[in-house]
Amino acid sequence: MEQNSVPPTPENYAVWFHYTQAKNQDLVHEVNHVISNKLKFTNEVCSYLYNKFVVVNRNQKVLDDASLAAQKVLLEVLRVVNDFSGETEHYNKDVDQYLDRISHDFEDENVKKIFGELVSATASLRKSGETIQKKLVESKEEINSLRKNLQQVTIEAQRDFLTGVFNRKTFEKVFDELAMHAKETHKDMCLLMLDIDHFKRFNDKFGHLLGDEVLKIVARTLTDILKGRDIVARFGGEEFVVILPDTPIEGAMKVAEAVRMTIADKELKRKDTGDNYGSITVSIGVARFRQNETLPTLVKRADDALYQSKHMGRNRVTRGAD
Ligand code: GH3
Ligand code: MG
Ligand code: MG
Repeated sequence: MEQNSVPPTPENYAVWFHYTQAKNQDLVHEVNHVISNKLKFTNEVCSYLYNKFVVVNRNQKVLDDASLAAQKVLLEVLRVVNDFSGETEHYNKDVDQYLDRISHDFEDENVKKIFGELVSATASLRKSGETIQKKLVESKEEINSLRKNLQQVTIEAQRDFLTGVFNRKTFEKVFDELAMHAKETHKDMCLLMLDIDHFKRFNDKFGHLLGDEVLKIVARTLTDILKGRDIVARFGGEEFVVILPDTPIEGAMKVAEAVRMTIADKELKRKDTGDNYGSITVSIGVARFRQNETLPTLVKRADDALYQSKHMGRNRVTRGAD
């Protein structure tokens, strides 16, 4: 750590502890990549490594495992309940038939009396059987709805709660998969970093709630324009990020320009009152993925390009360094 000028924080110690353990090859690869390319362990790179390999992996894995295990258990319980409630119903029908036959077929008073008692004992057993069956049906419904909730929660955990696009954690996860795909196929992949212009002013003028509506509109516009395997995520506050797999930089520039124009052309109006809030614009930075690079360096190039867009007067798209 000293050789690489890594600040001696508890987080960094954790990262380097895992690095020396060498159990996670991805972590070893990423750290070695930074060292061999003489890149710096900036705060950004350090916190990326920490979040990705120390925090996220542990928490996400625990969550994923718990969710999977719970779903498995529920499925198994549901199967048993299903079988059992089927058998109980069958048994109830059998008991009905026997009771019917017993009451017709025996003449002897003593036998009748014994059977009478047996019948009433069986009848009460049948009654508890019915109660159990009813309970089982209820449990079945409850388990089913628990399973659905669990699935829903698992899906929601991937999304940004306000805009519904992917959250940053999912973005980082999907990026890894798409980076792998780009390496394997030798196809281009690009990243768009988008930031709403003077959004603070909009919030100050019209309030946070309307600001939130604007975030939703930008997110919806992005998902409308981008289709297929493109990934839209909220990066933070009023910043969005888009991954365009299998897309050369020229194509990515066109997509970015289409996004910029579509948003700038939108008039923000309230449907019920007709109030007009004018329009908003966005600045975008575009960067091409370099084989073997990691997310922070790609994000940095897109961010630098975005900063240039801001610097040049906003409402524009800038192509980052190749
Ligand atoms: P610039 O053109 O330089 O990007 O200016 P800006 O005002 O957009 O940028 P700045 O970073 O100064 O302010 C970002 C503002 O975005 C701050 C805050 O008011 C707003 N913002 C961030 N997250 C949310 C959110 O979840 N909801 C709302 N309504 N506003 C948000
Ligand atoms: Mg911003
Ligand atoms: Mg902004």
